[in-house]
Amino acid sequence: MTPPPHELAHWDRHHVWHAFTQMQEYEPLLIERGDGCWLLDTDGNRYLDGSASMWCNVHGHRHPRLDAALAAQAAKVAHTTNLGLSNPTTVEFARRLAGVAPPGLDRVFFSDDGSTAVEAALKMAFQFWRQTEPARPKKTRFVAIDEAYHGDTLGAVGVGGVDRFTAMFEPLTFAPIRLRPPGLPDASGRVPSLDESLAALETSLAAHAHELAAVIMEPLVQMAGGIIVHPPGYLRGVRELTRRHDVLLILDEVATGFGRTGTMFACQQEDVAPDFLCLAKGLTAGYLPMAATLTHGCIWDAFLGPHAEQRAFYHGHTYGGNPLAAAVGLASLDLFRDERVLESLPAKIDRLAAHATRLADLDGVGGVRQCGLVLGIELVADKATRRPHPWQEQRGRRACAAARRHGVLLRPLGDVVVIMPPLSVTDAELDKLAAAAEAGIRAVSR
Ligand SMILES: *Cc1c(COP(=O)(O)O)cnc(C)c1O
Repeated sequence: MTPPPHELAHWDRHHVWHAFTQMQEYEPLLIERGDGCWLLDTDGNRYLDGSASMWCNVHGHRHPRLDAALAAQAAKVAHTTNLGLSNPTTVEFARRLAGVAPPGLDRVFFSDDGSTAVEAALKMAFQFWRQTEPARPKKTRFVAIDEAYHGDTLGAVGVGGVDRFTAMFEPLTFAPIRLRPPGLPDASGRVPSLDESLAALETSLAAHAHELAAVIMEPLVQMAGGIIVHPPGYLRGVRELTRRHDVLLILDEVATGFGRTGTMFACQQEDVAPDFLCLAKGLTAGYLPMAATLTHGCIWDAFLGPHAEQRAFYHGHTYGGNPLAAAVGLASLDLFRDERVLESLPAKIDRLAAHATRLADLDGVGGVRQCGLVLGIELVADKATRRPHPWQEQRGRRACAAARRHGVLLRPLGDVVVIMPPLSVTDAELDKLAAAAEAGIRAVSR
């Protein structure tokens, strides 16, 4: 028998150390079930999943076809290692991923989380330059963008740029060369033009190419940094400049992948193929932890050789390529095809944009930023000057807490209220999300 909710809440407070959470202030909310875009807590309350369960749910919870794929794989085997062995489901998934990825990215390294997908890409890029012909062992550094988020393992923290997550650990990490995020106002409040942002990158590349392994970035939109939307053309410009200066390009599509921005992958909107594509979150439609680092044959080839030359990639994660996760990932790709998910997105994106226009007019909202089916609503103390609230006031968190009383779960990024539902969200559900966000914002703007 399940213990009563109050007992579970007590144990939750006592035993479970929650991610990104001040445990002293933690108020348990125990989600017991899911159903489409809805979540049910242990008291039977229903909430709309406005953050797609931390940005990873795609087709809704308990989709019958995903559940069936999971059960069918469990009836065969739950896990076998991919260190030197393989599994039919994982092989098929790798092949299908290569089929939907940008051209050329047909080698798939599986791991278990977004951070590990990034770690693998960083290490592969580093090792590639030591083993390519002729070797360029001085190419060891990375270019990263301020306010970037690439995960919480130390390599990923090193290329991260959200100070409140990374500053503490700086002594433990390596230092990349940093760029300002394009599309973000500078200290004087002016937004640099696309040409200026690309010129800044070109200057860095020209000065440092001899010591640079790769540029790493989130394409089109920096999510955790506060939904920072890049100007059109930036990604394409980065690809051209990295090619010209012989620097690899790592695209972190952990959050943007699998339809979030309106196309299967964000980089496809600018016809860009990176050297490494990092995937996680939506890879299994939000069902199971799995990640993938995709690359092309030219990188792969640099790791080939007789055993004695020790050119292999000595890196791996115990559950990498897990067949249960691969089975759900495969079924998710089938759903993208059979339910015409990408075709359904433009209408939903337009509907969210209409809500964005209305929300932008609210008192206390300094601006709204949208990319595909993601909306960030920035709360400010002064609408005209966009002066922020003192961060200690936690306006974003309080607005989301108020939205919860309207039956919606949202997660803020600082003072940015974020709406990021599963792609399967209906029109009525989108309207409810926007209405609850509005109510939450009004409640804390008075
Ligand atoms: C969430 C996220 C990560 C980290 O993924 P985890 O699975 O939490 O390790 C990396 N990059 C981006 C862009 C993300 O949004």
